[in-house]
Amino acid sequence: MTTKTDLLIVGGGPIGLHCTYFLLQSGRSVTLVDQAQAGVGSGSGNAGHIVPSHIVPLAAPGVIPTALRWMLDPPRSPFGLKISLQPAYLLWLIRFAAACTEANVQRAISPLKALGLLSAELFAQIIAEEHFACSYRENGLLFLYNTRTAFEAGKHEAALLHQHGLPAEVLERQAVHTREPAALESVLGGVHFTGDASLDPGEYLRLLRARILTMGAHIQEQTPVTGFETRGNKIVRVLSTTEDFAPEQVILAAGAWSPQITRPLGLNLPVQPARGYSLTASGLESLPRGALLLGERKIAVTPFENKLRITGRLEIGEMSTAPNPLWIRRIEAAAREYLQLNGVLHIEETWAGLRPVTPDGLPVIGYSPHYENLLLATGHAMLGLSLAPATGQVTAALANGQQLPFEIRAFEWRW
Ligand SMILES: Cc1cc2nc3c(=O)[nH]c(=O)nc-3n(C[C@H](O)[C@H](O)[C@H](O)COP(=O)(O)OP(=O)(O)OC[C@H]3O[C@@H](n4cnc5c(N)ncnc54)[C@H](O)[C@@H]3O)c2cc1C
Repeated sequence: MTTKTDLLIVGGGPIGLHCTYFLLQSGRSVTLVDQAQAGVGSGSGNAGHIVPSHIVPLAAPGVIPTALRWMLDPPRSPFGLKISLQPAYLLWLIRFAAACTEANVQRAISPLKALGLLSAELFAQIIAEEHFACSYRENGLLFLYNTRTAFEAGKHEAALLHQHGLPAEVLERQAVHTREPAALESVLGGVHFTGDASLDPGEYLRLLRARILTMGAHIQEQTPVTGFETRGNKIVRVLSTTEDFAPEQVILAAGAWSPQITRPLGLNLPVQPARGYSLTASGLESLPRGALLLGERKIAVTPFENKLRITGRLEIGEMSTAPNPLWIRRIEAAAREYLQLNGVLHIEETWAGLRPVTPDGLPVIGYSPHYENLLLATGHAMLGLSLAPATGQVTAALANGQQLPFEIRAFEWRW
């Protein structure tokens, strides 16, 4: 069976759901397909940080020496690297190493800042207009540091943000303990990125999925896309395990799975998965006041209504989404180096998700090189929730041939 549709979106993660939301708002008819369930994949168990303060991409000077140093101490390392000789993976690593330059950072700052600020604004707007109850807090992201060296690096980042007109408050020992009473005595300083926010991502995405259904979206779940039929430079049919679609336009928003979907089209999309884990605990006597980032250990902590989520690890090249119990225990132990937590946490859920990472750390947003009716919206790495509303709005504008709110050349296809 072939279903004719106006717009087909492949992937119901944060990006696909927001593309659907803004396209429906603009009057388009949208079918969203997901291989599993929309709103549940790599977005639901993440830290829920909305971070316009993140203006430096993953590929930056100093990242490789730091990662190598971490790997000398595997049990404490926030970073892992799959060992593989697969050519696409090796090429990705070479491109990543080549992109770790000051020039890449300078190229990225302005577009990342524009996308991040617009997204933060849109989150506030959507949550207010749609009355989403999702533990949304506009009280920033507080970095905690246990060592002088990391605190100095945090101060450097705060200065960079000031240069770009973004807020960041440096807190010496006493001030950081007043701001976050859950911090242990060992914490000697902090930086508070006061323009950031946080929410419960699973709850937010569940509400967004329900909202786009009432707006008229056709959501086809348990429907993996398996291939395409093309005519000249147009996609005429999208094939799936359950039915085929004949769309006018296609938006690919399949996160870390995007390269395997685009391969039959001859597009070598350089996106690698970077797996991470989370645990969600309930029944805590008290929760931290707001979202935290534990500096040296790169652990994110987020209080929801009456739960606490702790997330960590970035394992490049790992595609399976089975949570690893050893790493869940290590992530909890790392959080205890900074925070007072209950004796034994009542862990309700453990989770693993995949961040889609491009070699230069910037997302890919825009038309594909060979197909005039294929748009790409992927590669958001650790910012796929944070940047989702703006990506959705920009992608909808591109699909509708409308003017964009800002320049997105840095995000276009570049390989
Ligand atoms: C531990 C951890 C913590 C994180 N914390 C944050 C955070 O605090 N803030 C933040 O902004 N980001 C965070 N992230 C990153 C964020 O979760 C990702 O960047 C985001 O999920 C990417 O969104 P996406 O929509 O591009 O892809 P995904 O969320 O991966 O969604 C892709 C969808 O495509 C579907 N799909 C795949 N293949 C097919 C197919 N063949 N056919 C149909 N559908 C298909 C999948 O089922 C999935 O639903 C974190 C990630 C991890 C792992």
